[in-house]
Amino acid sequence: MNQFTYRKASSQDDALKGAAQARFIGGGTTLIDLMKLDVERPAALIDVSRIPNLKIERVSGGGLLIGAEVKNSDLAHNDLVRKEYAVLSEALLAGASAQLRNKATTAGNLLQRTRCLYFRDVTKPCNKREPGSGCAAIEGHNRNLAILGVSSKCIANNPSDMNVAMMALEAKILTVGAGEGGGAAGGAREIPINDFYLLPGETPEKETVLRPGELITGVKLEAPSKGSRSLYLKLRDRASYEFALASVAVVATVRSGKIEHVRLALGGVGAKPWRALEAEKLLEGSDVSVATFEKAADAALFGAKPQSQNGFKVELARRCIIEALTRVMKA
Ligand code: SF4
Repeated sequence: MNQFTYRKASSQDDALKGAAQARFIGGGTTLIDLMKLDVERPAALIDVSRIPNLKIERVSGGGLLIGAEVKNSDLAHNDLVRKEYAVLSEALLAGASAQLRNKATTAGNLLQRTRCLYFRDVTKPCNKREPGSGCAAIEGHNRNLAILGVSSKCIANNPSDMNVAMMALEAKILTVGAGEGGGAAGGAREIPINDFYLLPGETPEKETVLRPGELITGVKLEAPSKGSRSLYLKLRDRASYEFALASVAVVATVRSGKIEHVRLALGGVGAKPWRALEAEKLLEGSDVSVATFEKAADAALFGAKPQSQNGFKVELARRCIIEALTRVMKA
């Protein structure tokens, strides 16, 4: 591991000092692993885990504000989340292990990095870790990687379960930057999650729209629509402590046999947490039927680009979507 400086921030303002040249660390469940592997080599760490930002609270209009440092386990077991945002609780509990969920934070999970084997192996070429070095996964082991949003430079997928639920809930990411002298452009931002993640394109090393030194302070969720239902369905090689091969988050409202409102997001298959916008358009206003769900699944996977070992994901994701929609809409 390379040498780095470390300091504990006592407040948000304190955290932003010198932040453009540093990395923030919360639970450390991704960053420390990657530092041990020499994949991440920050010159400075700013520990934000002591900043008092641990609230999960109702906001005016009925939505929910989740502090950046809220632990995944606390979020999953929060009464309001379980009752009104069940998809989020289910996704969190489907991820990692109890020990990791006790440590990992909301902000950290949003920034979780890919589990591509070659990204984590510094002896192999990887455009995401070392731009311009190549992509070992394209000709290598790519069974678990993405089929949507990939590029010729990178086919890695986003491994988070929480992020898929946040997509279906149309979360807004709250951030703050220090501005002049402090690094990131100043002021607070509220970034819709669908605009937060970048596709790999020519620059897979850039994963989000966060600016250097910009700190995630929380996540905002809108109030759920009256009568809305939700579900997170995850398919994986084993029943626990495993990443998704394909997963689906659905939030929907059904009235008189018609789909009034639906948000559909996919995990395990996208270069970023994947919002299935075309499928949503097709579903809204349609009758609740398996035939409709099948058409929506085809729309969601239109343009999929399977790699040499993960062609099975197209049919797996298709079935996952149909099953999730069936369970939610016919509940
Ligand atoms: Fe690196 Fe992306 Fe290729 Fe994996 S898929 S080796 S993360 S460039």
